[in-house]
Amino acid sequence: VVNLCWLRRDLRLHDQAALYHALKAGQPVVPVFVFDTHILDDLEDKADRRVCFIHQALETMQQQLTAMGATLDVFHGAPEAAFEHWTTRYTVGAVFTNHDYEPYARQRDTAIAALLKDKGINFHAYKDQVIFEKNEVLKDNGDPYTIFTPYSKRWLATLQPFHYKSYPVERYAKYWYQQEPLKIPSLKTLGFTAVKTTFPAAGFPEKIITRYDQTRDIPAIQGTSRLGVHLRFGTISIRELVKKALDDNATFLKELIWREFFQMILWHFPKVEHASFKQEYDRIPWRNNAAEFERWCQGETGYPIVDAGMRELNATGFMHNRVRMITASFLTKHLLIDWRWGEAYFAAKLLDYDLASNNGNWQWAAGCGCDAAPYFRVFNPSLQTQKFDKELRYIRQWVPELDEFSYPKPMVEHEMARKRALEVYGKALAR
Ligand code: FAD
Repeated sequence: VVNLCWLRRDLRLHDQAALYHALKAGQPVVPVFVFDTHILDDLEDKADRRVCFIHQALETMQQQLTAMGATLDVFHGAPEAAFEHWTTRYTVGAVFTNHDYEPYARQRDTAIAALLKDKGINFHAYKDQVIFEKNEVLKDNGDPYTIFTPYSKRWLATLQPFHYKSYPVERYAKYWYQQEPLKIPSLKTLGFTAVKTTFPAAGFPEKIITRYDQTRDIPAIQGTSRLGVHLRFGTISIRELVKKALDDNATFLKELIWREFFQMILWHFPKVEHASFKQEYDRIPWRNNAAEFERWCQGETGYPIVDAGMRELNATGFMHNRVRMITASFLTKHLLIDWRWGEAYFAAKLLDYDLASNNGNWQWAAGCGCDAAPYFRVFNPSLQTQKFDKELRYIRQWVPELDEFSYPKPMVEHEMARKRALEVYGKALAR
């Protein structure tokens, strides 16, 4: 009898809750992974950076497992088919996995738990990708928080060393199921091609984090950790990161709490995946001009800071947070295009794409999300440039033609667009 540990967004062999519990249970453990066709088939870009990243992470784990006489067992297809396969190949006692809070994942896990139950196999799931989940940080009256600042205060007040204690997976290494290494399907078999990219390192960038509060808003320098993708796929442990952040930088810790805040919002209010958190904002008559949207996507708005951001995203799969805020505000306020269009574009491009964070931040930018402030904030691209990229170092990197006479005029005039946005929002919300 073996136990399976189903890996998803927790692609590491250290400090990993489900793995720890699976090995500790004392039966041989087979780590398994599904390249889920429900997800892969929806990806239009067959040179998707995320698929490459996952593939590399699996190859790294495979090397570590092979050295211990064990192997990953990777399936390409639907999760249901994967478990039919594995329950035929092995005599399975139980399946261990970590919680995933996205609506699709919740539905998938319920279906798999039911399928396993029919076969008499238990399904155990653990908290791993956050410090606090679901109902662990609530208001005194038992309601979930919907405003960040009080949530973060409560989060910090609840935190004990126990919450970020590592899971010593190594202690139970003798329970890895021993078998010859199995082949991981190649990217080509999966229908994808490799991307020439170096992914950010999975280590803790000490120098950046200690100065984070001073450097994080300057897009021209590498003043942020670039750990987003690692948090997304679990190639680093949130507990190790929080431990370091507590010692090194309170501002950085706050960003990690933002991440948990949006995960918590998505868990309690799964409707936000498609609808505005503040329902009345779905009355806004978006202009949704397709040609204007295309100019935004391509970084051809005539606003250098917006264009630089979009071009950075298109070229690298990353965009600096400050510029994400500026480009998102521009799309929703200056162009009055539905935040869902922008959200979908970022979802297709961002290496660190995460439903909860992307959705939460887009709704924040559009004014319809979890935010105490009203919708009046309209970022002024020129003022933002003066404040955060005064010497145009970031902009010149992505918009080298800036100094030529041919640089296009702004596609909308700022003051007109600002007034139009306030008017359209105001009217829609007054009804
Ligand atoms: P750092 O500044 O080093 O922060 C460390 C970590 O904290 C990040 O990796 C991330 O996990 C978390 N974090 C930081 N800021 C936020 C935030 N505002 N909300 C939630 N978590 C945060 N972040 C994503 O992880 N995935 C997304 O799909 C995503 N989409 C966004 C869309 C818009 C419109 C905006 C304005 C922001 C979005 N963010 C998203 C948040 C933020 O921009 C990125 O997390 C950050 O830029 C990633 O770079 P970093 O790893 O260097 O972050």
